[in-house]
Amino acid sequence: MKVTIIGCGYVGLTTGVALAYLGHQVTGVEKDQDKLELLLQGKSPIHEQGLEKLIKECASRLSFTADASLVVPPADIIIIAVGTPQKENGEADTYYVEEAAREVVSSFVSGRSYTLVVKSTVPIGSNRRVAYVVEKVLSERGNSAQVYLASNPEFLREGLALRDTLYPDRIVVGAKDSRAVEALRLLYRPILEQTFEPPTFLPRPEGYMPPPLITTDPTSAEMIKYAANAFLAVKISFINEIAGLCDKVGADVTEVARGIGLDSRIGSRFLSAGLGWGGSCFPKDTAALVAMASEFNYSLPIVEAAREVNARQQLLIVEKLQGALKGIRGQVIGVLGLSFKPNTDDIRESPAVKLIRLLVERGAHVRAHDPVAIPKARQALSSMEVDFIENPYKMAEGADALVLATEWEEYRFLNLRELAECMREPVLVDARNFFSPEEARQAGFNYLGVGR
Ligand code: NAD
Repeated sequence: MKVTIIGCGYVGLTTGVALAYLGHQVTGVEKDQDKLELLLQGKSPIHEQGLEKLIKECASRLSFTADASLVVPPADIIIIAVGTPQKENGEADTYYVEEAAREVVSSFVSGRSYTLVVKSTVPIGSNRRVAYVVEKVLSERGNSAQVYLASNPEFLREGLALRDTLYPDRIVVGAKDSRAVEALRLLYRPILEQTFEPPTFLPRPEGYMPPPLITTDPTSAEMIKYAANAFLAVKISFINEIAGLCDKVGADVTEVARGIGLDSRIGSRFLSAGLGWGGSCFPKDTAALVAMASEFNYSLPIVEAAREVNARQQLLIVEKLQGALKGIRGQVIGVLGLSFKPNTDDIRESPAVKLIRLLVERGAHVRAHDPVAIPKARQALSSMEVDFIENPYKMAEGADALVLATEWEEYRFLNLRELAECMREPVLVDARNFFSPEEARQAGFNYLGVGR
């Protein structure tokens, strides 16, 4: 099928590349010139495992442009994957979605039919708003194109984006018209039937079963996305709340999480206590859900509590440092990890970045390391004095404490003894419960985890 994707960020680019890999003819529309330049050179503007390799491999079926009007007319399916940033009142801003819809519909060829898909995470009712924009633009132009509208929320995890796209748990399509559902069924057929040859670097997970296609109404599809993210955020905040109590009573939250996670009704995932959740989805989507509910004069106390617990997690780490160092002002603190989670360069709402802000505000000299996110973090923290250091051992030299803020796998191979020996005070605050406390202590560290 001929597919046009509007917005080549984490979601749009991954989706486009995966669809090209599956054999579709894909054009990505991206209006950010810097990103477009990279894409035109066959490079990925984001750090995501395997993405650049597939961009190159699929070059014959994948192209990029800034001009939607060139590539929308011949497309069968147009997927809107632009950002929906948080407004001041917590709502998700659908301005870019509606603007993209207007641009797309303006280029429709009269008499043809198109499937227009909203993949961005949008507030309940946005499908109706987009339908309105579509109707308006078509009638203003006397255009007789047939438009079948669908909501197709995205569930990929950054760092595992291609994996989640090729091997999803489910695909959700919300549409009023069955022709939209059928178009998406055809688009995703290779994934739904798992008929494609896996990329060499991304084998089909053992035991993976073809995913179900959930077809529903647009409003339910929109709600599924928000409810899924809110549930996951609540689950993490729950274990963080328990971790705080474990700290007080002397229990080990990693043991507690294991003990409760083996209960199949609970499940072991998303039960890692730590620095809290961040990224471009959970903070924004939980805020949007709360804002949406309040429009209906309805409250979501569980979701609100999850946000509250999350906001205090970074403060708890600051308090641990204060306790261990007897004050933070003037201390040299090295932070390992900047991205909001490993395997991505995304620092949007990163708890590590928030922690650094708190430390600098309290007078610490902060040094920071990350395998890939330093350029983005440098920009985000440009108003603060932070030393970005490419080598963790250099970062530790003469430092008073280290904080493990993002659990990059490569930190597992750090020589803890070497790190501890070159520090002024060998304090290690493991804000992700990543290291073994015994090994860290044997290496000479005063080790502090979260809830253990
Ligand atoms: P992003 O900011 O990385 O990418 C959006 C891209 O769209 C940007 O590159 C921007 O320049 C481009 N853009 C905006 N308007 C455009 C237009 N009119 N024409 C062409 N390009 C345009 O955002 P993202 O992280 O990919 O998220 C996109 C949507 O998907 C959001 O609604 C987000 O909530 C949702 N989502 C994100 C994730 C994730 O992990 N990042 C997961 C699931 C859902």
